[in-house]
Amino acid sequence: MKLDVDVLRYLSKDDFRVLTAVELGMRNHEIVPTELIDRIARLKHGGTYKVLKNLLKHKLLHHDSSKYDGFRLTYLGYDFLAIKTMVNKGVFVAVGRQIGVGKESDIFEVAREDGTVLAMKLHRLGRVSFRAVKSKRDYLRHRSSYNWLYLSRLAALKEFAFMKALETHGFPVPNAVEHNRHCVVMSLVQGYPLVQVKQLQNPETVFESIIGQVVRLAEHGLIHCDFNEFNIMIDDDEKITMIDFPQMVSVSHRNAQMYFDRDVECIFKFFRKRFNLSFQESIDDIDGSDEGRDEAGKPCFSEIERSAGFLDRELAASGFTRKDEENIQRFIEGEAESDTNSDSEGVDLVEDLNEADTVDGDSSHLLEQDEGDESQGKEESREACESSGSEKE
Ligand code: ADP
Ligand code: MG
Repeated sequence: MKLDVDVLRYLSKDDFRVLTAVELGMRNHEIVPTELIDRIARLKHGGTYKVLKNLLKHKLLHHDSSKYDGFRLTYLGYDFLAIKTMVNKGVFVAVGRQIGVGKESDIFEVAREDGTVLAMKLHRLGRVSFRAVKSKRDYLRHRSSYNWLYLSRLAALKEFAFMKALETHGFPVPNAVEHNRHCVVMSLVQGYPLVQVKQLQNPETVFESIIGQVVRLAEHGLIHCDFNEFNIMIDDDEKITMIDFPQMVSVSHRNAQMYFDRDVECIFKFFRKRFNLSFQESIDDIDGSDEGRDEAGKPCFSEIERSAGFLDRELAASGFTRKDEENIQRFIEGEAESDTNSDSEGVDLVEDLNEADTVDGDSSHLLEQDEGDESQGKEESREACESSGSEKE
């Protein structure tokens, strides 16, 4: 998706005020009634209506008058809210080129005031997966709080929390700088995704260091669950960095063994095909032993001494709760299940997500002048969101 950040420059304080009002309204309205936006934004002399027109022109909002007159945020509108918050916090001053299009994200370079370049990941949970299937419409309908704003924000929170915790434990991951809404800012990794690398000086060493990380993760109670050549970066010194954490699970997950074996298999398969590695030899060459490995040289999940408390202990501290984990995991696994029996009928993601009608957001701080009953109203709607989510399960 194109992110025309020049638009940021032309947006006024009032524009952001109205955009934020729509975001708040989306906590309990799929389409926020125009009149409600006006009441939340509280601009003088009917200013809201003029601003709404401007935001619509820049595609930050979508207008819908099918049931009543109202608006909702577009991805772009949500992007701008997060970017504006980051800029206000002094996290970065400029957005540069796009450096990655992931399955469920867009990655951009951003620059700090001193010229340091960082990476910004905008989560788009559901972008790929929602493209299919009517059954998913049903799936979503039963989980009305699971819309894209909520899920993308949860994915960003999880990614940030895991990156921080992994960094603390000495794993080779980017430095987690900041997060807001669906956006995570982290250090820019030098090098390339492994999938782009055709030759290595020391494929055996690189292979062993990657497998070593899978094992070490499990020892710390975690499984990456998407550990492959797309999510491993490698630099000119053949040093690896792992990225992309929203789908990680605990070793106590009921499918842990399967996820672990799948991660291991991905790496084995890639090195076998791309670098012609024959594994038993390489393992014996390197440490002279095959302890904890099966006859094909693969690490055995059952033989790893695993500590399962990692998720609870470290992640709770970062604001990512067990409930958040349950919510995001339920979504990811639901997706995986319905992927296996999906037809490929195209359904526009954003339209599809309109079916969902509640969302949790993170914007009250932007309307710092709002007080009294309105902020109380916000709390109430947040509670309503949460309880409606759990009741329907
Ligand atoms: P997704 O969850 O959508 O797969 P990823 O986190 O894997 O997103 O990022 C997609 C791509 O963006 C990566 O394959 C990589 O090329 C690039 N990328 C992501 N994070 C960084 C980073 N910190 N530094 C440099 N490139 C990155
Ligand atoms: Mg990825």
